[in-house]
Amino acid sequence: MSEPTPIKPHVLVLGGGFAGLEATFNLRARLGRHVDLTLVSDSTAFKFKPNTIYIPFGKEPERYVVDLMPAMERRSVRFVHGRALAIDPEAKRVTTDREVLGYDYLVVATGATMRAEEVPGLAEHGNTIWTPEEMLRLRERFEQVVAAARSGTRQRVVFMVPPQNKCAGPLYEMVMMLDTWLRRREVRDAVEITYATYESHYIQAFGPRLHEVVVREFDRRGITGHVATRVSEVTASRVRFSDGLALDFDLLVSFPPYVAATRFDGLPADERGFLGTVATTRQVIDSPDIYAVGDAGDFPVKQAFLALLQADTAAEHIAQRIQGAHPDARFEPVSMCIMEQFDTATFAQVPLMTTGDPAMPVKVRDDRPELYKVGTNEIWRLGKKMLGTVLPARFKAGLPFHAGATWAAMAAGLDVMAHVFAD
Ligand SMILES: Cc1cc2nc3c(=O)[nH]c(=O)nc-3n(C[C@H](O)[C@H](O)[C@H](O)COP(=O)(O)OP(=O)(O)OC[C@H]3O[C@@H](n4cnc5c(N)ncnc54)[C@H](O)[C@@H]3O)c2cc1C
Repeated sequence: MSEPTPIKPHVLVLGGGFAGLEATFNLRARLGRHVDLTLVSDSTAFKFKPNTIYIPFGKEPERYVVDLMPAMERRSVRFVHGRALAIDPEAKRVTTDREVLGYDYLVVATGATMRAEEVPGLAEHGNTIWTPEEMLRLRERFEQVVAAARSGTRQRVVFMVPPQNKCAGPLYEMVMMLDTWLRRREVRDAVEITYATYESHYIQAFGPRLHEVVVREFDRRGITGHVATRVSEVTASRVRFSDGLALDFDLLVSFPPYVAATRFDGLPADERGFLGTVATTRQVIDSPDIYAVGDAGDFPVKQAFLALLQADTAAEHIAQRIQGAHPDARFEPVSMCIMEQFDTATFAQVPLMTTGDPAMPVKVRDDRPELYKVGTNEIWRLGKKMLGTVLPARFKAGLPFHAGATWAAMAAGLDVMAHVFAD
């Protein structure tokens, strides 16, 4: 008689974005066939959102989409194409619109969505950035601005970050990309560009050095900036702010307030639906077998790089528990970003800590100054290109981003570049 097949632990992952895929592929890489993996996602494709900033300037959306099915098959991950609707932490079950699934460990990585309606008039009169469709609409609007400027009608473009937006970086990229793009079309003189944000400093989450970079760049580019100004209303051609500022526009571009993409009743969450976690392990409070990673969790800054780090922590923690080891994996929020501007780019590596203050929920750690690096140089555009090529390729192959020789080589390369082109 043959030995009965031992029952393997089952890890269920919800959401096929940065965090969900990194966790899934990391677990497969760590545990091989000693774990059963199921991924539930409402999309059969992975969307590389960071590079959708190029769509308004002419790139096609298909470039930033990866079909997940070959990787699921290659890594023996059961894929359920559906929506997770509810989690029962007692019964350890997830109800989806397809079937009910049990789990030993659950990773919630369902991300965030936008709630433009929180700002009166924004959805009707503004152009928002989140989906590729919105980016395509913006492309049309940018072309209209160029056409109007060429025909002699001055244009006013306003960029606006409202409170509760959790990832303002892309809007800073786009305002500077637009400036360069208009210059290259020789219409910049006919377009006024204004940037207004609720943040107390530009890119507040990333500390004083990024603020200084933006001040310098806005000055060089002739972009008028306003900080600490909170939008109150948008009408057909004007944005009003609660401090009395009013800006007239022909085109308004905004990144709306964030909420959780899916709310899971019965789990601890803030008023926006972001799941409450133990900061270091990303385990959901009072539900140690559930992990919330990426935009779905309560880390105040929502960023792909941080989503990957959180997913790696959760995967390592789960793997350690499955292997019977003492779980000591910890999430260290050191953010990394490269801000495209077309004529140059800014690199930033920022060690963060949470403060508990809703007005300034994170700050730069002052005990690790050697980790806080900022640099602006055209060479960083290559770094951005490299990330945009390697990460989707890793996911396409069913591999985690932060692992193996490719990541080791990239990390070493970024380190050398940071040494030379940032301080
Ligand atoms: C224009 C733009 C530019 C950006 N640029 C950068 C950048 O340069 N650097 C950076 O670090 N970050 C950037 N970000 C932020 C980054 O894209 C997000 O932080 C990142 O996508 C978060 O990853 P995630 O896996 O948590 O969520 P997502 O990538 O949003 O993935 C969540 C997945 O879950 C699925 N899902 C949701 N609900 C359910 C459900 N109930 N059931 C099943 N599936 C579900 C969604 O369809 C999606 O596939 C940018 C974002 C935008 C919009």
